[in-house]
Amino acid sequence: MPTLDIRDLEVHYAIKGGSLQALAPVNLTMHDGDFVVALGASGCGKSTLLNCIAGFLPPSSGEILLDDKPIVSPGADRGVVFQKHALMPWLNVRDNVALGLRFGGMDTSKRDAIADAKLALVGLEKYGDRAVYELSGGMQQRVGIARALASDPALLLMDEPMGALDAFTRETVQEILLHAWQASNKMVFFITHSVEEALFLGTRLIVMSPSPGRISHVYNDVPFSRQFLAHGDARKVKSEPEFIRMREEVLAIIHHREAAHV
Ligand code: ADP
Ligand code: MG
Repeated sequence: MPTLDIRDLEVHYAIKGGSLQALAPVNLTMHDGDFVVALGASGCGKSTLLNCIAGFLPPSSGEILLDDKPIVSPGADRGVVFQKHALMPWLNVRDNVALGLRFGGMDTSKRDAIADAKLALVGLEKYGDRAVYELSGGMQQRVGIARALASDPALLLMDEPMGALDAFTRETVQEILLHAWQASNKMVFFITHSVEEALFLGTRLIVMSPSPGRISHVYNDVPFSRQFLAHGDARKVKSEPEFIRMREEVLAIIHHREAAHV
């Protein structure tokens, strides 16, 4: 069973005249099927944490283990989705999804079959032959999710992937992501600014605070994504009294802290 284990992770950036501590010791363990959402104001170290898990940034101290092996570089066991999709405009949708597999040396028919299966997972099975620029922003982001899933990673890393989408599209992509998560049972580490999005998607919420970045609050066993997957009605979930109560509680934590910094 894949496990991610973050132990006493600290990051210090070298800046002019000294160093900036972006992460105080962070500890976090994730298992198969965990959907962890990191929430918090700008600058509290969310992207720094994700970039360390992705292997883009080395820890200053501490370590991150994926299946007991230290993460020292990017790898096919982690799929990454950013706010900006970074698809290749000269490749069609299928070839974009299959690109990493092509670099890995897989033959065409095999990687096309995998790409088509991942496209079906995000509801784009009819779009494999289309050019990327023919697709809407929401569809392009779904292609990005399919691409991140193509190498069958243990862990999906998503840094504000819905940030550039309009509200309606965002809700649709959230629902598609939950279905893809349910079908693949991956670990997901997801960053957002939206409390509502965090509660709707995550099985666990970590609220981070700045200077230096750290985890200040943890909500385990958040039930709403599984409720949505059981009955398929997102509006019903988001209007439940318990959803609204938690939303206001988390908003109060974040706003109270921001007010203290203004
Ligand atoms: P978030 O994603 O929560 O907005 P970041 O992880 O991007 O936060 O940043 C955390 C802190 O580290 C901020 O104070 C930011 O200015 C600083 N920081 C981020 N990247 C760098 C860098 N490459 N060099 C120096 N400081 C950085
Ligand atoms: Mg960020």
